[in-house]
Amino acid sequence: MVHYINVRTGSRNELVDITDEVQAVVEETGIKEGVCYLYVPHTTAAITINEGADPSVKDDIINTLQKLIPPGAGYAHMEGNADSHVKSTIVGATEIVFVENGKLLLGTWQAIFFCEFDGPRHRRVAVKVVGQ
Ligand code: ZN
Repeated sequence: MVHYINVRTGSRNELVDITDEVQAVVEETGIKEGVCYLYVPHTTAAITINEGADPSVKDDIINTLQKLIPPGAGYAHMEGNADSHVKSTIVGATEIVFVENGKLLLGTWQAIFFCEFDGPRHRRVAVKVVGQ
Protein backbone atom coordinates (compact mmCIF):
# COMPACT_ATOMS: atom_id res chain seq x y z
CA MET A 1 0.00 0.00 0.00
CA VAL A 2 1.20 3.49 -0.87
CA HIS A 3 0.63 6.29 1.65
CA TYR A 4 0.58 9.97 0.73
CA ILE A 5 1.89 12.94 2.69
CA ASN A 6 0.30 16.25 1.69
CA VAL A 7 2.58 19.27 1.59
CA ARG A 8 1.39 22.87 1.23
CA THR A 9 4.27 25.08 0.13
CA GLY A 10 4.35 28.85 0.53
CA SER A 11 7.18 30.02 -1.75
CA ARG A 12 8.46 29.41 -5.27
CA ASN A 13 11.58 27.72 -3.85
CA GLU A 14 11.30 26.09 -0.45
CA LEU A 15 12.56 23.08 1.50
CA VAL A 16 9.95 21.60 3.85
CA ASP A 17 11.02 19.22 6.63
CA ILE A 18 8.69 16.18 6.38
CA THR A 19 10.68 13.84 8.68
CA ASP A 20 7.95 13.66 11.35
CA GLU A 21 5.25 12.94 8.75
CA VAL A 22 7.34 10.14 7.21
CA GLN A 23 8.04 8.65 10.66
CA ALA A 24 4.29 8.75 11.35
CA VAL A 25 3.65 6.71 8.18
CA VAL A 26 6.26 4.15 9.27
CA GLU A 27 4.51 3.82 12.64
CA GLU A 28 1.11 3.51 10.97
CA THR A 29 2.34 0.51 8.99
CA GLY A 30 3.61 -1.21 12.14
CA ILE A 31 6.71 -2.34 10.24
CA LYS A 32 9.73 -2.56 12.55
CA GLU A 33 12.47 -3.70 10.15
CA GLY A 34 12.51 -2.78 6.48
CA VAL A 35 12.86 -0.04 3.91
CA CYS A 36 10.98 3.23 3.45
CA TYR A 37 10.72 4.40 -0.16
CA LEU A 38 9.88 8.04 -0.81
CA TYR A 39 8.73 9.24 -4.21
CA VAL A 40 7.71 12.72 -5.42
CA PRO A 41 5.21 12.49 -8.33
CA HIS A 42 5.87 16.02 -9.62
CA THR A 43 8.07 17.47 -12.39
CA THR A 44 9.03 20.68 -10.59
CA ALA A 45 9.65 19.35 -7.09
CA ALA A 46 12.06 16.88 -5.50
CA ILE A 47 13.15 15.21 -2.28
CA THR A 48 16.46 15.24 -0.44
CA ILE A 49 18.05 14.35 2.88
CA ASN A 50 20.32 16.88 4.55
CA GLU A 51 20.95 18.78 7.76
CA GLY A 52 17.82 19.65 9.70
CA ALA A 53 19.42 21.25 12.77
CA ASP A 54 20.59 24.56 11.29
CA PRO A 55 17.86 26.16 9.13
CA SER A 56 20.46 28.20 7.22
CA VAL A 57 21.52 24.99 5.42
CA LYS A 58 18.13 24.99 3.64
CA ASP A 59 18.74 28.60 2.56
CA ASP A 60 22.24 27.76 1.29
CA ILE A 61 20.89 24.86 -0.79
CA ILE A 62 18.13 27.00 -2.32
CA ASN A 63 20.43 29.97 -2.97
CA THR A 64 23.11 27.78 -4.56
CA LEU A 65 20.59 26.06 -6.85
CA GLN A 66 19.23 29.49 -7.77
CA LYS A 67 22.72 30.67 -8.78
CA LEU A 68 23.49 27.49 -10.74
CA ILE A 69 20.08 27.32 -12.45
CA PRO A 70 18.67 30.86 -12.68
CA PRO A 71 15.16 31.49 -13.99
CA GLY A 72 14.87 32.94 -17.50
CA ALA A 73 18.32 31.84 -18.68
CA GLY A 74 17.30 31.20 -22.29
CA TYR A 75 15.53 27.88 -21.84
CA ALA A 76 13.53 26.22 -24.65
CA HIS A 77 10.55 25.23 -22.43
CA MET A 78 7.94 27.94 -22.97
CA GLU A 79 5.95 27.50 -19.76
CA GLY A 80 8.34 29.80 -17.89
CA ASN A 81 9.41 27.27 -15.29
CA ALA A 82 12.30 25.50 -17.02
CA ASP A 83 14.58 26.23 -14.06
CA SER A 84 12.09 24.39 -11.81
CA HIS A 85 12.22 21.30 -14.05
CA VAL A 86 16.05 21.32 -14.11
CA LYS A 87 16.27 21.69 -10.30
CA SER A 88 13.79 18.82 -9.92
CA THR A 89 15.91 16.50 -12.03
CA ILE A 90 19.21 17.46 -10.38
CA VAL A 91 17.92 16.97 -6.82
CA GLY A 92 15.86 13.89 -7.74
CA ALA A 93 12.41 12.40 -7.17
CA THR A 94 13.32 9.54 -4.82
CA GLU A 95 14.94 8.75 -1.48
CA ILE A 96 15.34 5.50 0.43
CA VAL A 97 15.66 5.26 4.22
CA PHE A 98 16.13 2.05 6.17
CA VAL A 99 13.75 1.31 9.05
CA GLU A 100 15.17 -0.23 12.22
CA ASN A 101 13.23 -0.85 15.45
CA GLY A 102 10.29 1.03 13.90
CA LYS A 103 12.37 4.20 13.38
CA LEU A 104 13.80 5.84 10.26
CA LEU A 105 17.54 5.17 10.30
CA LEU A 106 18.67 8.77 9.86
CA GLY A 107 21.92 10.31 11.07
CA THR A 108 21.82 12.65 14.06
CA TRP A 109 21.69 15.80 11.95
CA GLN A 110 19.71 14.44 9.01
CA ALA A 111 16.16 15.39 8.06
CA ILE A 112 14.00 14.55 5.04
CA PHE A 113 13.07 17.59 2.97
CA PHE A 114 10.40 18.01 0.33
CA CYS A 115 11.89 20.44 -2.21
CA GLU A 116 9.52 22.90 -3.86
CA PHE A 117 10.84 24.59 -6.99
CA ASP A 118 7.65 26.05 -8.49
CA GLY A 119 5.41 26.98 -5.59
CA PRO A 120 3.35 27.87 -3.83
CA ARG A 121 1.35 24.70 -4.50
CA HIS A 122 -0.39 21.73 -2.95
CA ARG A 123 1.98 18.77 -3.32
CA ARG A 124 2.22 15.18 -2.20
CA VAL A 125 4.88 12.63 -1.44
CA ALA A 126 4.26 8.91 -1.96
CA VAL A 127 5.61 6.69 0.83
CA LYS A 128 5.90 2.91 0.72
CA VAL A 129 7.26 0.96 3.67
CA VAL A 130 8.31 -2.63 2.98
CA GLY A 131 9.18 -5.07 5.73
CA GLN A 132 12.23 -7.24 5.27
ZN1 ZN B 1 6.94 23.46 -17.15
